[in-house]
Amino acid sequence: MHHFFTDKGSISEEIIRIQGEDRHHAVDVLRVRPGEEILVSDEEGQDYRCEVMEASGEELCLRILERLSDNHELESEVWLFQGLPKSDKMELIIQKATELGAAHIVPVITKNTIIKLDEKKSGQKIRRWQSIAEASAKQSKRSVIPVVHEPMRFSDAVKLAGDFEISVIPYEHEEGIESLCEAIVSFVPGRRIGAFIGPEGGFDRLEVSFAKKQGILPVSLGKRILRTETAAIAILSMIMIRLEIAQNAFKED
Ligand code: SAM
Repeated sequence: MHHFFTDKGSISEEIIRIQGEDRHHAVDVLRVRPGEEILVSDEEGQDYRCEVMEASGEELCLRILERLSDNHELESEVWLFQGLPKSDKMELIIQKATELGAAHIVPVITKNTIIKLDEKKSGQKIRRWQSIAEASAKQSKRSVIPVVHEPMRFSDAVKLAGDFEISVIPYEHEEGIESLCEAIVSFVPGRRIGAFIGPEGGFDRLEVSFAKKQGILPVSLGKRILRTETAAIAILSMIMIRLEIAQNAFKED
C-alpha cells in the first residue's frame, strides 16, 4: 500500500485532498486508480486508511475508510545527535535512524568534525537530508517524518539534551558495560531520549566530561571500535528494541 504524508489542513471529516508534488507522484508515477487503498499520515502521526476517489483533476481525492488507532511510532521521542561525518555517510545514518524510529536528527559540530558546512552548503545538505528522511519514513511506514535540524555546536546540543529524561554519549574509552546496562533500563516510554555519536575522529575527552557534567551518561558499546555509522545504528537499535519491549509489556498488562 502506497504511503503519503500530509498536514491536517488537507483533511476534512471524510476526505483527504493531496496536491502538488505528491499528487503528481501518486497519479503520474505510481498511477494510482480509483478504488485503490492508500495509507496517509498527518503531521501528528495519525494514520488514515483511505480509498482513492478521484485521480484526474488538480488534486487527488481520497475517502477516509478508517482512522487507525495504532501508529508506527516509538512511545518516546528519540533524538540522535550525530557528530558530522565525512562524505555522504550522513545520508546512510539518516536513513537508518529513520527506520529505527528517531524523531529528531541533529548534525553536531564537534572538535574532531572534519567536514565544514558554510551557510549555503548547509542549507542544500539539510534539504537533501530531510528528503532522505521523508523517503525512508515512507519506506518504513513511519507515521511521522523525522526532523533533520540545522547543524548545532556540541555545547548547545549538550545543553539541550541535558534537559532530557535520559541522554547517553557512547564513548569508546568508557570502561565496562555497566553504564550501558544502566542506561538501557531507563529507555522507557514517555521520555525524551538523546544519543550522541562522535565523528570518525571520536569525541575529545573534554567534550565527554562536559557532557557528563550536564547529566549525559558516557556508555561503552563493547570492546571493539565501531565506525560512526555503525555506532549510531547500534545505539538506536538498543533504544528501539527496549522501547518496543516496554510498549508491548505495557499492552499485555
Ligand atoms: N576515535 C576512535 C578511534 O579510536 O579510532 C573512533 C571513533 S568512532 C569511529 C566514532 C564514534 O562511535 C565514537 O565517537 C563513539 O561515539 C562511537 N563508538 C565507536 N565505538 C564505540 C565503543 N566501543 N563504545 C562506545 N562508543 C563507540
